[in-house]
Amino acid sequence: MALKIPDSMDECLYFSNRSIADCQVLAWVYRKTCPKCKKAKMGKPVVKGKVKTRAKEYTCPECGYTEEKKEHEESLDLEASYTCPHCGKKGESTAKYVRKTYKGVPSFIVECQHCHEKIPLTKKLKGI
Ligand SMILES: [Zn+2]
Ligand SMILES: [Zn+2]
Repeated sequence: MALKIPDSMDECLYFSNRSIADCQVLAWVYRKTCPKCKKAKMGKPVVKGKVKTRAKEYTCPECGYTEEKKEHEESLDLEASYTCPHCGKKGESTAKYVRKTYKGVPSFIVECQHCHEKIPLTKKLKGI
């Protein structure tokens, strides 16, 4: 599997670069191409040049197609490139862009492709 690390954060809905137990973990979610017109990437609605970050939906700037936030995010994949904090190998994995609770902290869970241990991307940068 060869993942493409995004060139810019503008391409992403989510981007995270952090170290877990001294291991570097890079994770991102690409913005989704509009399934209706396939001409543009969907994002939070933009009103008068300002992104409505708290909006409960994602919309296509080209055709106006809108998807509810939850439904939209559940259809996306989170991609991660990491050095596994468990086995120390470099790997790449994809995961669902849905937060799960890991030791009481909402996290995206990436599974190491080598040792299959969980690598949690916690919501806050605090350690668990
Ligand atoms: Zn569209
Ligand atoms: Zn591992």
